[in-house]
Amino acid sequence: MTDAPLFPLWKIGRLRMATDGQGVTALVCAQGCPLGCKYCINPGSKTFECENRVTAAELYDKVKQDGLYYSATGGGITFGGGEPLLHTAFITEFRKIIPDEWHIYAESSLMIPEKNVYEAAEAVDGFFVDIKDTKNEIYRAYTGGDNKTALSNLSLLLSLVGPDRITVRVPLIPGFNSESDRKRSVDILRGMGITGLDIFKYRIPAQKEKK
Ligand code: SF4
Repeated sequence: MTDAPLFPLWKIGRLRMATDGQGVTALVCAQGCPLGCKYCINPGSKTFECENRVTAAELYDKVKQDGLYYSATGGGITFGGGEPLLHTAFITEFRKIIPDEWHIYAESSLMIPEKNVYEAAEAVDGFFVDIKDTKNEIYRAYTGGDNKTALSNLSLLLSLVGPDRITVRVPLIPGFNSESDRKRSVDILRGMGITGLDIFKYRIPAQKEKK
Protein backbone atom coordinates (compact mmCIF):
# COMPACT_ATOMS: atom_id res chain seq x y z
CA MET A 1 0.00 0.00 0.00
CA THR A 2 2.56 2.60 1.01
CA ASP A 3 6.21 3.33 1.58
CA ALA A 4 5.83 2.43 5.25
CA PRO A 5 9.01 0.74 6.47
CA LEU A 6 8.80 -3.04 6.76
CA PHE A 7 10.58 -5.21 9.31
CA PRO A 8 12.06 -8.57 8.20
CA LEU A 9 10.64 -10.66 11.04
CA TRP A 10 12.56 -13.82 11.85
CA LYS A 11 10.86 -14.81 15.11
CA ILE A 12 9.32 -13.57 18.34
CA GLY A 13 10.11 -14.82 21.84
CA ARG A 14 7.32 -14.01 24.30
CA LEU A 15 7.30 -13.25 28.02
CA ARG A 16 10.98 -13.05 28.85
CA MET A 17 11.73 -11.83 32.36
CA ALA A 18 14.52 -9.32 33.04
CA THR A 19 16.52 -10.44 30.00
CA ASP A 20 18.04 -7.67 27.87
CA GLY A 21 15.68 -5.07 29.22
CA GLN A 22 13.81 -4.54 32.46
CA GLY A 23 10.57 -6.32 33.37
CA VAL A 24 8.74 -8.56 30.93
CA THR A 25 9.80 -8.20 27.32
CA ALA A 26 9.14 -9.81 23.97
CA LEU A 27 12.21 -10.48 21.84
CA VAL A 28 11.53 -9.49 18.23
CA CYS A 29 14.30 -10.78 15.96
CA ALA A 30 15.24 -9.27 12.61
CA GLN A 31 16.29 -11.47 9.72
CA GLY A 32 19.70 -10.51 8.33
CA CYS A 33 23.09 -9.62 9.81
CA PRO A 34 26.16 -8.05 8.17
CA LEU A 35 28.54 -10.08 10.36
CA GLY A 36 29.46 -13.74 10.31
CA CYS A 37 30.35 -14.62 13.91
CA LYS A 38 31.85 -18.08 14.22
CA TYR A 39 29.69 -18.95 17.23
CA CYS A 40 26.53 -17.06 16.22
CA ILE A 41 23.77 -17.87 18.67
CA ASN A 42 21.10 -17.27 16.02
CA PRO A 43 22.57 -18.67 12.80
CA GLY A 44 19.14 -18.87 11.21
CA SER A 45 18.88 -15.08 11.39
CA LYS A 46 22.05 -14.33 9.42
CA THR A 47 20.69 -14.48 5.88
CA PHE A 48 18.96 -11.37 4.54
CA GLU A 49 16.46 -13.52 2.64
CA CYS A 50 13.12 -13.03 4.34
CA GLU A 51 9.57 -13.89 3.34
CA ASN A 52 7.93 -12.37 6.39
CA ARG A 53 8.09 -8.57 6.24
CA VAL A 54 5.69 -6.81 8.57
CA THR A 55 4.47 -3.27 9.04
CA ALA A 56 4.59 -1.56 12.43
CA ALA A 57 0.84 -2.16 12.85
CA GLU A 58 1.23 -5.86 12.00
CA LEU A 59 4.01 -6.28 14.55
CA TYR A 60 1.95 -4.46 17.16
CA ASP A 61 -0.89 -6.93 16.52
CA LYS A 62 1.50 -9.82 17.17
CA VAL A 63 2.89 -8.52 20.49
CA LYS A 64 -0.01 -6.62 22.05
CA GLN A 65 -1.49 -9.72 23.71
CA ASP A 66 1.20 -9.43 26.42
CA GLY A 67 0.97 -5.65 26.68
CA LEU A 68 -0.41 -5.66 30.21
CA TYR A 69 2.69 -7.50 31.40
CA TYR A 70 4.99 -5.00 29.69
CA SER A 71 3.12 -2.07 31.20
CA ALA A 72 2.91 -3.55 34.71
CA THR A 73 6.64 -4.38 34.90
CA GLY A 74 8.20 -1.49 33.03
CA GLY A 75 9.07 -3.87 30.21
CA GLY A 76 8.35 -3.77 26.50
CA ILE A 77 9.95 -4.92 23.29
CA THR A 78 13.57 -5.95 22.76
CA PHE A 79 14.68 -5.93 19.14
CA GLY A 80 17.37 -8.53 18.40
CA GLY A 81 18.59 -10.36 15.38
CA GLY A 82 20.22 -10.55 13.07
CA GLU A 83 20.94 -6.83 13.24
CA PRO A 84 17.78 -4.94 14.27
CA LEU A 85 19.27 -1.45 14.06
CA LEU A 86 19.45 -1.74 10.29
CA HIS A 87 15.71 -1.03 10.67
CA THR A 88 15.60 2.14 12.73
CA ALA A 89 13.05 3.76 10.40
CA PHE A 90 10.73 0.88 11.22
CA ILE A 91 11.44 1.07 14.97
CA THR A 92 10.69 4.80 14.85
CA GLU A 93 7.28 4.07 13.27
CA PHE A 94 6.62 1.25 15.74
CA ARG A 95 7.38 3.53 18.68
CA LYS A 96 4.66 5.93 17.50
CA ILE A 97 1.89 3.33 17.79
CA ILE A 98 2.75 1.47 21.00
CA PRO A 99 1.56 2.57 24.45
CA ASP A 100 3.77 5.25 26.03
CA GLU A 101 4.66 3.03 28.99
CA TRP A 102 6.24 0.31 26.87
CA HIS A 103 10.02 0.51 26.60
CA ILE A 104 12.06 -0.37 23.54
CA TYR A 105 15.44 -2.07 23.85
CA ALA A 106 17.87 -3.21 21.15
CA GLU A 107 20.65 -5.77 20.97
CA SER A 108 23.12 -4.64 18.33
CA SER A 109 26.68 -4.96 17.06
CA LEU A 110 26.38 -1.31 15.86
CA MET A 111 27.61 -2.40 12.42
CA ILE A 112 25.08 0.01 10.96
CA PRO A 113 25.07 3.29 8.99
CA GLU A 114 25.73 6.39 11.09
CA LYS A 115 22.29 7.83 10.33
CA ASN A 116 20.75 4.77 11.99
CA VAL A 117 22.62 5.62 15.20
CA TYR A 118 20.90 9.02 15.27
CA GLU A 119 17.49 7.43 14.64
CA ALA A 120 18.09 4.74 17.27
CA ALA A 121 19.09 7.34 19.85
CA GLU A 122 15.59 8.83 19.48
CA ALA A 123 13.57 5.61 19.25
CA VAL A 124 15.30 3.16 21.62
CA ASP A 125 15.41 3.40 25.42
CA GLY A 126 18.21 0.93 26.17
CA PHE A 127 21.05 -0.56 24.13
CA PHE A 128 22.90 -3.87 24.57
CA VAL A 129 25.95 -3.57 22.35
CA ASP A 130 27.90 -6.72 21.51
CA ILE A 131 31.34 -5.24 20.88
CA LYS A 132 33.11 -8.69 20.78
CA ASP A 133 36.72 -7.38 21.06
CA THR A 134 38.20 -3.93 20.50
CA LYS A 135 41.27 -5.31 18.67
CA ASN A 136 40.49 -5.29 14.97
CA GLU A 137 42.48 -8.45 14.12
CA ILE A 138 40.48 -10.42 16.68
CA TYR A 139 37.20 -8.86 15.60
CA ARG A 140 37.92 -9.59 11.95
CA ALA A 141 38.92 -13.19 12.65
CA TYR A 142 35.78 -13.80 14.69
CA THR A 143 33.16 -11.86 12.72
CA GLY A 144 34.62 -11.41 9.24
CA GLY A 145 34.02 -7.65 9.61
CA ASP A 146 36.02 -4.56 10.57
CA ASN A 147 35.30 -3.00 13.96
CA LYS A 148 36.07 0.63 13.10
CA THR A 149 32.42 1.26 12.24
CA ALA A 150 31.17 -0.39 15.44
CA LEU A 151 33.57 1.54 17.67
CA SER A 152 32.92 4.90 16.05
CA ASN A 153 29.16 4.27 16.23
CA LEU A 154 29.51 3.37 19.92
CA SER A 155 31.31 6.63 20.54
CA LEU A 156 28.58 8.53 18.67
CA LEU A 157 25.80 6.71 20.53
CA LEU A 158 27.46 7.49 23.86
CA SER A 159 27.61 11.17 22.95
CA LEU A 160 23.90 11.12 22.01
CA VAL A 161 22.33 9.14 24.86
CA GLY A 162 24.94 9.04 27.64
CA PRO A 163 26.23 5.97 29.47
CA ASP A 164 23.12 5.11 31.48
CA ARG A 165 21.26 3.72 28.45
CA ILE A 166 24.11 1.57 27.17
CA THR A 167 25.38 -1.85 28.25
CA VAL A 168 28.38 -3.15 26.34
CA ARG A 169 29.03 -6.87 26.18
CA VAL A 170 32.67 -7.90 26.36
CA PRO A 171 33.03 -11.65 25.92
CA LEU A 172 35.91 -14.01 26.33
CA ILE A 173 35.69 -15.95 23.08
CA PRO A 174 37.43 -19.33 23.28
CA GLY A 175 40.00 -19.71 20.52
CA PHE A 176 39.85 -16.00 19.53
CA ASN A 177 40.79 -13.75 22.46
CA SER A 178 42.41 -14.07 25.87
CA GLU A 179 41.78 -12.71 29.36
CA SER A 180 44.33 -9.97 28.69
CA ASP A 181 42.63 -9.08 25.38
CA ARG A 182 39.33 -8.79 27.19
CA LYS A 183 40.88 -6.66 29.95
CA ARG A 184 42.35 -4.37 27.29
CA SER A 185 38.90 -4.01 25.74
CA VAL A 186 37.36 -3.23 29.13
CA ASP A 187 40.00 -0.58 29.81
CA ILE A 188 39.45 1.02 26.39
CA LEU A 189 35.67 1.04 26.85
CA ARG A 190 35.93 2.53 30.34
CA GLY A 191 38.28 5.13 28.93
CA MET A 192 35.59 6.06 26.39
CA GLY A 193 33.14 6.64 29.26
CA ILE A 194 31.19 3.38 29.10
CA THR A 195 30.01 2.40 32.59
CA GLY A 196 27.60 -0.49 31.85
CA LEU A 197 29.77 -3.52 31.06
CA ASP A 198 28.68 -7.14 30.81
CA ILE A 199 31.87 -9.19 31.07
CA PHE A 200 31.37 -12.88 30.40
CA LYS A 201 32.60 -15.97 28.58
CA TYR A 202 30.96 -17.57 25.57
CA ARG A 203 29.81 -21.10 26.22
CA ILE A 204 30.66 -22.98 23.07
CA PRO A 205 29.03 -26.30 22.19
CA ALA A 206 31.78 -28.91 21.70
CA GLN A 207 31.04 -29.38 17.98
CA LYS A 208 31.49 -25.64 17.37
CA GLU A 209 34.97 -25.34 18.93
CA LYS A 210 37.38 -23.62 16.57
CA LYS A 211 39.39 -26.12 14.54
S1 SF4 B 1 26.24 -10.16 15.23
FE1 SF4 B 1 24.82 -11.57 16.27
S2 SF4 B 1 23.40 -12.30 14.69
FE2 SF4 B 1 25.16 -11.36 13.64
S3 SF4 B 1 26.50 -13.10 13.17
FE3 SF4 B 1 27.18 -12.19 15.13
S4 SF4 B 1 26.10 -13.35 16.75
FE4 SF4 B 1 25.07 -13.78 14.78
